[in-house]
Parts: sequence; C-alpha cells; structure tokens
Amino acid sequence: MSASQADSAAPGGPSPLPRVHWLVAMNRRNRTLGFALLWLVMAAQMRWHAASGPLAWTLLTLHLLVLPQMMYWRACRAANPRETEVGHMLLDALMFGLWSGWLGHPLWISGLTLVCTTVNLMAFRGPPGALQAGALYLVGALATGFGLGIEPVLQTDRTATLLALFTMEVYLLGFAWGAYQRSLQLHRTRGQLREREQDLQRRLDEIALLQVRLAEQARRDPLTGLHNRRFLVEHLGARQSGRPAAPPLGVMLIDIDHFKRVNDSHGHAAGDAVLQAVARLLEQRHGGEAEVVCRYGGEEFLLLLPYRGAARMRALAEQLRVEAELLRLPLGEGQSLIGVTLSIGWACGHDEPFEALLDRADRALYRAKQGGRNRVESGLA
Ligand code: GH3
Ligand code: MG
Ligand code: MG
Repeated sequence: MSASQADSAAPGGPSPLPRVHWLVAMNRRNRTLGFALLWLVMAAQMRWHAASGPLAWTLLTLHLLVLPQMMYWRACRAANPRETEVGHMLLDALMFGLWSGWLGHPLWISGLTLVCTTVNLMAFRGPPGALQAGALYLVGALATGFGLGIEPVLQTDRTATLLALFTMEVYLLGFAWGAYQRSLQLHRTRGQLREREQDLQRRLDEIALLQVRLAEQARRDPLTGLHNRRFLVEHLGARQSGRPAAPPLGVMLIDIDHFKRVNDSHGHAAGDAVLQAVARLLEQRHGGEAEVVCRYGGEEFLLLLPYRGAARMRALAEQLRVEAELLRLPLGEGQSLIGVTLSIGWACGHDEPFEALLDRADRALYRAKQGGRNRVESGLA
C-alpha cells in the first residue's frame, strides 16, 4: 500500500478499499483491451506465417492475456505505483521488441507496437522515456530476430494488417479519450480553484474591514461615541512627528459640575444620558474647529484645538459653558427635566508641549471649581 493509501485509512473503523492510482487503473483498462486485440493481430500473423509451435502460442497467451493482470496486481501493491507502472511500460517495449524479432519484423505489427510503446513512455516520461522505450524495443527485436537467426519476413498477413489498423485506431482513440477526460477534469479543478481563491479574497477583505472597524472601536468611547484617551495620545504623536518644536496648541478641559448628584438622584442611566448629551453638544458645536474631542475621564472631556489666541479660546469656552447651561434633558415619561453646568479650564501657547498646556488647563479647571463652578478659567502661562 502506498503512503497516500495508508494515510486515507480511517483509524479504528473498517478500513476503506485502497484507492488505485489513476495510471494503474488506466493501464489495466488499456492493456486488457489493447493486448487482447494484439493477441488477435499476432495470432493472425502466426497462423499465416506458420512458423510457431505450441511454446510460442503459450508464451503469447501468457504475455498478452495473463501478464497484464499480474502487472495490475503488482502495481496496486507497489509503494510507488506510478514508477512501477513506468517500469511495466518499459517492459512492454522490450517484450514487443522480442515478439517483433520472433515474427520476423512484420512491418505493420512492428510499427504498431513500436508506436504504442514509445508514445506511452513519451506521455509519462517525456523524450527520455520515449528513447528508453525505443532502445529496449530495439534490443528485444535484435535479440530474437538476429540473435536466434530468424529470417526477416517484413510482410504482414492481410487479416493481421486489418486487425493492426483497427488496434491502432482503438489505441489512439483510447489515448485521446484519456487526454480529453483529464483536460475536462483540469478545467473543472481550475474553476473550483478560482472560486476558492475568490472566496478567500472575500474573506480577507472582510477581515481587513473588520480590523479597520476594530481599530476604530478601540479609539472610541462606547458610551458617548467620542474619541478616547488612546486616540488623543496617538494623534499627539502623529502631530508632533518630524517637528523639532511643539506646535502651537489650545487645550480645554471640561468637567460636569456635581455630576455625582445626577447619578445619586436620578440613577446611573440618567447620568449616562447626561454624558451623552454633553458629548453631542461638544461634537456638534465644536467638533469642526477642534482637532480632537475626547472623553478624557468619567465626566471629564478634553478639546484639543489649533492655536487661535487667548481671546478666541476664552470666547469658545464661554460659549460652551452657556450652551451647556441651556441644555434641558428629559428624564423619561412625565418626569422633570434636568440641567447641567460645566466648569472649564483652558490654556494655549506656542512652543509649549501638550503636557505643560494640559497641566495649566487642569489647574485652571481646579480654580473654576474652587470659584463656585459653572465658570471658565484660563491657565496662566
Ligand atoms: P465636581 O463638580 O467636583 O466635578 O463633582 P462631581 O460629582 O462631578 O465629581 P466626582 O468626581 O465626585 O464624581 C464623578 C462621578 O462620575 C463619579 C462616578 O460614579 C461618575 N461616573 C463616572 N463615569 C460614569 C459613567 O460612565 N456613567 C455614569 N452614569 N457615571 C459615571
Ligand atoms: Mg465633575
Ligand atoms: Mg471630574
């Protein structure tokens, strides 16, 4: 049994019938039919030539009717069925050479058997195979013909000629049919491969899309949909890269006043709704101007702005504070509206790293809280 056959046996269960190599199966078919026809061709020649005794008839029968089955039996059990079959085909070439010499080189029979054996080897081993087959054929023909001193007859009996032509036709048709079947199979396999390749490409595209979505999700806060701190860090890194000095920036830290009370009085869901409403306000009103609008902490937000000068920063922060003060959030059917206020600390500057600006904005926010909340404070340089 070959390695691939051994592989296909299921462990434990009833062992399936070993699959016969396609070349072994094809050669058995071709030999069973082709050699039977050749038996008729050679028998006709031997009857006409009347030079053969019972030994020749027995050998002819053994070679053409029994040996093909033995070759099949052997190839089925070979470790390398393909190589074994190639060996059998070379043996065919030698044997037909021997018969050609024995029969006195009748041209039709010799031509037929030489063509068939060399074409077979050409198909499976290329030109070296065809040359090998031709050489073995010649060795066989010379060994019996000239070795045993048999006179060349060259002529072929009329019945043998007709049968030889018929055999040639059958052989060539069989060969062409095999090639046709294999090209059909190849075409089908190519089609399946193309489909699998397209399927694989589709999956790769889906995975790539999913990766983009996941990467985007990792940079967003799930509650408010705003960017998160991770995005801010990445953005600052990209902004700074390649620049020798810190680019001019404005930083605004925004904190909801007494937010804990919203949670305590109205529940966590109401607190979430307030966070979402403030996030919407920041995104809609200031998203266009700000480079980054992010949820910086629990109820704390950060706006990163291009430098616009202190007056513009103060105006923006004030506008934001007022807009938030005007927000009224419904708490549900028949319930009251709640409002929120914001404390804002901001800082802006040239050639100052983000961390320094953030520190100033944070201290300004602290002062806004200390000053009574619902206030805007600037971080002094
Ligand atoms: P201050 O005016 O000094 O900022 O007071 P505050 O109550 O706003 O601040 P504090 O730090 O005391 O409380 C913040 C609260 O925010 C505490 C925490 O439970 C709440 N919080 C943080 N993240 C979330 C969230 O995602 N959803 C809700 N509903 N609450 C949150
Ligand atoms: Mg707060
Ligand atoms: Mg806070």
